Amino acid sequence: MSRPSLFELENHSDFIQRHIGPTVKQQEEMARTLGYDSLDALIDDTVPAAIRRQAPMDLPAAQTEQAVLGHLRSLAQQNVVNKSYIGTGYHDTYTPAVIQRNVLENPGWYTAYTPYQPEISQGRLEALLSFQQMVIDLTGMDLANASMLDEGTAAAEAMTLLHRVNKKNRSNVFIVAEDCHPQTIAVVKTRAGVLGIEVVVGEPNALLAEHQAFGMLLQYPGTYGHLEDLSPLIEQAHSAQTLVTVAADIMALLMVKSPGALGADVVVGNTQRFGVPMGFGGPHAAFFATRDAYKRSIPGRIIGVSVDRRGNQALRMAMQTREQHIRREKATSNICTAQALLAIMATFYAMYHGPEGLRRIAERIHRLTAIFGAGMREMGLAAENAQFFDTLTFHVGERQQAIVEAALRHGINLRVIGGERLGVALDETTSAADVETLWQVFADGDLPDVSALDKAIDGEPGIPGELSRHMDYLQHPLFNDYHSETEMLRYMRYLEDKDIALNRAMIPLGSCTMKLNATTEMLPVTWPEFAGLHPFAPADQTRGYQAMIGELEHMLLQATGYDAISMQPNAGSQGEYAGLLAIMRYHQSRGDAQRNICLIPSSAHGTNPASAALAGMKVVIVECDDQGNVDMDDLRLKAGRHTDDLACIMVTYPSTHGVFEESIIELCAIVHQHGGQVYVDGANLNALVGIAAPGKFGADVSHLNLHKTFCIPHGGGGPGMGPIGVGAHLQPFLPSHPVAPVPGVDAGNDVVSAAPYGSASILPISWAYIALMGAQGLELATKVAILNANYIAHRLKDHYPILYTGTTGNVAHECIIDIRPLKEASGVTEEDIAKRLIDYGFHAPTMSFPVAGTLMVEPTESESLFELDRFCDALIAIRQEIEAVQAGKLDAGDNPLCNAPHTLADVAASTWEHPYSRELAAYPVASLRRYKYWPPVNRVDNVYGDRNLFCACPAIDSYREEA
Ligand SMILES: *Cc1c(COP(=O)(O)O)cnc(C)c1O
Repeated sequence: MSRPSLFELENHSDFIQRHIGPTVKQQEEMARTLGYDSLDALIDDTVPAAIRRQAPMDLPAAQTEQAVLGHLRSLAQQNVVNKSYIGTGYHDTYTPAVIQRNVLENPGWYTAYTPYQPEISQGRLEALLSFQQMVIDLTGMDLANASMLDEGTAAAEAMTLLHRVNKKNRSNVFIVAEDCHPQTIAVVKTRAGVLGIEVVVGEPNALLAEHQAFGMLLQYPGTYGHLEDLSPLIEQAHSAQTLVTVAADIMALLMVKSPGALGADVVVGNTQRFGVPMGFGGPHAAFFATRDAYKRSIPGRIIGVSVDRRGNQALRMAMQTREQHIRREKATSNICTAQALLAIMATFYAMYHGPEGLRRIAERIHRLTAIFGAGMREMGLAAENAQFFDTLTFHVGERQQAIVEAALRHGINLRVIGGERLGVALDETTSAADVETLWQVFADGDLPDVSALDKAIDGEPGIPGELSRHMDYLQHPLFNDYHSETEMLRYMRYLEDKDIALNRAMIPLGSCTMKLNATTEMLPVTWPEFAGLHPFAPADQTRGYQAMIGELEHMLLQATGYDAISMQPNAGSQGEYAGLLAIMRYHQSRGDAQRNICLIPSSAHGTNPASAALAGMKVVIVECDDQGNVDMDDLRLKAGRHTDDLACIMVTYPSTHGVFEESIIELCAIVHQHGGQVYVDGANLNALVGIAAPGKFGADVSHLNLHKTFCIPHGGGGPGMGPIGVGAHLQPFLPSHPVAPVPGVDAGNDVVSAAPYGSASILPISWAYIALMGAQGLELATKVAILNANYIAHRLKDHYPILYTGTTGNVAHECIIDIRPLKEASGVTEEDIAKRLIDYGFHAPTMSFPVAGTLMVEPTESESLFELDRFCDALIAIRQEIEAVQAGKLDAGDNPLCNAPHTLADVAASTWEHPYSRELAAYPVASLRRYKYWPPVNRVDNVYGDRNLFCACPAIDSYREEA
């Protein structure tokens, strides 16, 4: 008898089958169910031969989880975690362990989706509403959204908001104070440039006197630490009809007057230092707050208070009609994925510390800064800024280099400003001993004495009296009831339990790719060597990051067939914007600056037209035919009509209809023939990796949603990453960065994110996924994603019409079921089905995108046959309920569909007045006896919340009533 060899016993590709749901045997059985001899036969019949890749990806073979973690460790160890006093909008912070473990490292929080289905999202909605309340309180504004991607893009969005709303001053000039953070200025300039807005940077008083500007951006405190009362300046601006954005430091706001109180019209900033690691630049939640008058113009998601069917308080995303999904190129912004998970962390940090605790943290930072500054003065080096919160700038002249080197010998990074100045920003983690070390770095000889200086300093020496703030914030009980760890832990668990995330059930959202986010992939995110780096740390401290990013770039180039990658965009929407900018710059470089038409098929995702508008392009819609394919005649017509001014087409592949269109190669050829470039939206790359590469079948640029195909979890609405791959001809036009230039591109290029590599600290997730799967595993994942979708289509097709299929009758990695005929016949709507699925324990599929009245299902490769069947069984059972309504066996106006979802309170109530049973309401299939999810609210009223807009935490009594 032959025994397996040692090599055979060591299963190096074990992980592949942990990531992929169906077993190899099941894959073959499922393929046979679909009428094919093998999985490969299904793929050959589904994916057009013309786009299939010739050679496999050049990637290492799959590795074990242990090996991958070992390799990442060795990369991480090449990073040097210095103490960074660089500031510039990024500060070290202590993440409370209870939040790190129970939120950041907890799939109940990090695997949830954006809360489009409010009934299964009340937990994260409540946390995000508290985020808004926190921002409203600290900024002193009327209204805040539920996070932005970073401070730089938030400032850019503020500029476009002011441009839209300032009806009294239609000038095109935007003033930027020279002491704004340099990366913010760069992001704003890029954004302004393409929209025809003229940015003038300088001393704001002088600029105000010189320019008729529609808006102005100020930093509070300034990037070099100077703190001043902005109200006279804002008043002067207002008298010239210039509206004002203040970019504020959230920690400083605990001690200084709110920008709202100073008269600001918009306030933006970053909540990173509220317990979210710097992570070499991200992810962190930026914030955006403004006046009530501008609420219809605000970018991003806003959580609002509404009511459910029974009149109980329930939360939902408000005013979605501003957003790109609905308003498309007229949307207030292109932002889709934001930074929900990080916003939630920052909010819990505020709840954990409470107003007094936060105030003490801020006061301690300020006092230590005052002590540090006083000691420096004693040593003969007074700071340039006498007024400050936590940042001091020193003119050190030709000693600059020597001091920087002395600091490095102590493991300290200072901010290098020009050739003669240095900046020092203290933070929550700075100790008295650290201040003594800083003194040593700056001067030899006797050091000042911390406690003596502490005694000598009176009050808040850096803060002018008129700016000092009393504790008028975070008085809501939510910020005051959870200071013990036990209470905090239970509150977070209470919220988590309200929601459906991937650790409960399949989330079959089409276009969103809700696949496994393996624990091993997540582990490195919180390693200090990845989490603790400042984005502007010297390059020789970030070698591990550079190596990891370089390897990931290679992996993604292999997956996409492109020649170069930019890791800067921190969401798909930002990748679109960056890719379109590269296209524009390319045309400009060839003397084709007039090329500004962007063709977009009618089936496109809303971010496409919204991004085109942001990039200063004009959108021309191309129609789709009855089969859902791009209408090639219409394409020819419109490309031909715009042959002189065609910039590009933006097309999703496989299409948002879930079909591999045969015509894609011809489509690329037509657009190229008319001088345009081809942007392939890479959100559906999960149907392509390993079997076809957009860079090889004719596309010029794509964004990759690493939070879809490459396993970064969705975090309840972010973070994400949206790097772009481009052909060699577009490489010179990729983004750079003003503080930390990106190697290989001109330092003066466009800037799309605040940090050079976007949300760098989540890149190890995608790196780990690719290393764990290897070329073979990735290819198999794609094939099984297609298999699973076709299996679902097959099981459902006799119960619901499948809207679109390819020429051979197959779908790609998702399928659309058409509810319109059923609705016509029975009155049951797609929304009824979505909500009824909650009673069956499932998150709904994507509703009414890309076609109204439909549901789009994307199972991904990670769902097992067991779960696919459970989901199909649920939809089939629902179909039978619909039939019962049609047949009059269930009441047309009082049935389990239109009343869904049912809460525990419904079925446990002492009275039950419906004509169907409680059992049918709550346990329509036997398998639910094993595990039942109870939604915390009944169906949420979509209209009430918008009509009665309320976007802050309601009085605590309303929470008690609910209990
Ligand atoms: C998700 C998605 C986007 C937007 O990506 P974000 O990362 O959410 O900004 C764009 N296009 C399609 C087809 C998508 O599914």
